[in-house]
Amino acid sequence: MSVSTASLATHNPAPGAYGLFPARSDEDAFIADTWKELAPRAHAVALWGGLIFAAGMLSDYLLAQPSASWLALMVVRAMVLSVGLRLAWLTRRASAADPYRLRIWMPLFQVALLAGQRAIVQLHGAASSYQALAAVLACLIIFTYAPMVRPLQLWVMPAWVTLASLQMLSLLATPPRTVLLFVLILSFVNIVGWQLATHNNRSQRNAWLDRRRLQWEVAERVSAEQNLRHLFEVSPVPLVLAGQHRGRLLRLNQAALDLLDPRRLLPDPSQLSAQDFYADSQTGRMLTQALAHHEAFGPVDMRIRDSSRRELDVMVSARKLRYGGRRAVLASLVEITHRKRQEHELRRLAHTDPLTALHNRRGFFLRAAQARRQCAPAPLALLALDVDLFKSVNDNHGHAVGDIVLQQLAGRLGAVLREQDLLARIGGEEFAVLLPGMDAAQALDAAERLRRAVCDHALRCQGLRLQLSVSIGVALIASAHDDIDGALARADEAMYRAKQAGRNCVELQGPAAAPAAEAVSRATGVSTLAG
Ligand code: GH3
Ligand code: MG
Ligand code: MG
Repeated sequence: MSVSTASLATHNPAPGAYGLFPARSDEDAFIADTWKELAPRAHAVALWGGLIFAAGMLSDYLLAQPSASWLALMVVRAMVLSVGLRLAWLTRRASAADPYRLRIWMPLFQVALLAGQRAIVQLHGAASSYQALAAVLACLIIFTYAPMVRPLQLWVMPAWVTLASLQMLSLLATPPRTVLLFVLILSFVNIVGWQLATHNNRSQRNAWLDRRRLQWEVAERVSAEQNLRHLFEVSPVPLVLAGQHRGRLLRLNQAALDLLDPRRLLPDPSQLSAQDFYADSQTGRMLTQALAHHEAFGPVDMRIRDSSRRELDVMVSARKLRYGGRRAVLASLVEITHRKRQEHELRRLAHTDPLTALHNRRGFFLRAAQARRQCAPAPLALLALDVDLFKSVNDNHGHAVGDIVLQQLAGRLGAVLREQDLLARIGGEEFAVLLPGMDAAQALDAAERLRRAVCDHALRCQGLRLQLSVSIGVALIASAHDDIDGALARADEAMYRAKQAGRNCVELQGPAAAPAAEAVSRATGVSTLAG
């Protein structure tokens, strides 16, 4: 069955009054498409109708014997037979669909058969009951079984009944009662036959339209799927189709293969599941949860591993769908490893002091907040450390020497601190130190070690010997309400007091911590405000 897909999208015909399509082109398309159903019916009616009609020659012979009227009967029967054989030939099994021939020869055979039957009755010179019965049967068969391809076929029958009635009344002088009975029976057969034929025509054509529509839809879907498959294959974005239940890989496009198996190490990637590519179990959990609650999600950044276990950053968007009757997930993966590295580097630079490679002020606050969360509820101490009279280093030896001195100082301070301590350069020659888990005494002790690390040994730089010292302020973060800013301000304040106290010393924040600090101060020469 051929389908004109383009025409169906715009043209959707409906059967008309006789159950036939009003437009000849639609009717022709219907006949051509349903030829395999229509042709055998036309063939059977024409062949067997023609042969049986011709077989009537035998009864003619018995009734009329060889005579002029018998010859006329033979001619009539032979003519009907020839039309029948012609139609049977045109509609034989191997014949090509030809709506035009069926439209001409089917009605012609109908007319020939009924006209022939009238001629036979006339030649016999009397109407008989078996002739009336034959007429009823022919009528029924033509209405219900022979293919109806034009309205003329419906009108042939009532016209024939009218003709037969007139013939019976006038030429054959049949009693009016018999004619009336004949007319009544044939009228009933015609009315029912007409209804049946119209109903059949409409049903056949509607069924054909439905089939055509279905075929068109299937063709559209197939075409859409082929387009999607093509898009899937050639898309430069890596696309992965995986089963929703176990994550088994169902399809990968070329770009996904290049991303996940660049060295073609996997013999058959479809034997694997999505989980084989997750960088960690958390990624898998995150995806499973997202898919459990949403039809689609993303884009989200996640880490995966390729076939050679190399870690990649990808941006994933996924959507649930059905594939081959199974529940599946279509995911697009855009590699962002390079972008992630750049982001990471930018973040690192934004948080790092370029001269000393320590954290800068911003980095210090960020890391200090993290350290505070990690060490809670233990206390923390914070030191503000300023190099004494550093301006004179620059003034006497130049800015470049000053820079090197700052770098060396960073190294010295770092060497005294523990791994978990956080050292940052938060200003020109100002440093901050976060000491997780230290109380006042421990912090003062650490500050003293830092002070000594600077002043006990002179720095050597470009052949110079530079004796430096630092002033340190100590603050504590003991309660959950204390913030890093406040603590740094208190440490700064204490550091300025250390400057006022003559520099190269350690000062503790306000009087609250005084008793603990006093002990340390006396033992080490560290001064406090309270002390
Ligand atoms: P004080 O003991 O009161 O802190 O004296 P100071 O000289 O250290 O204080 P001051 O604030 O007057 O000077 C700080 C100096 O630090 C001024 C500035 O030239 C220098 N400085 C700030 N940043 C840098 C830097 O990155 N490199 C160098 N070489 N010097 C710097
Ligand atoms: Mg300063
Ligand atoms: Mg200074």
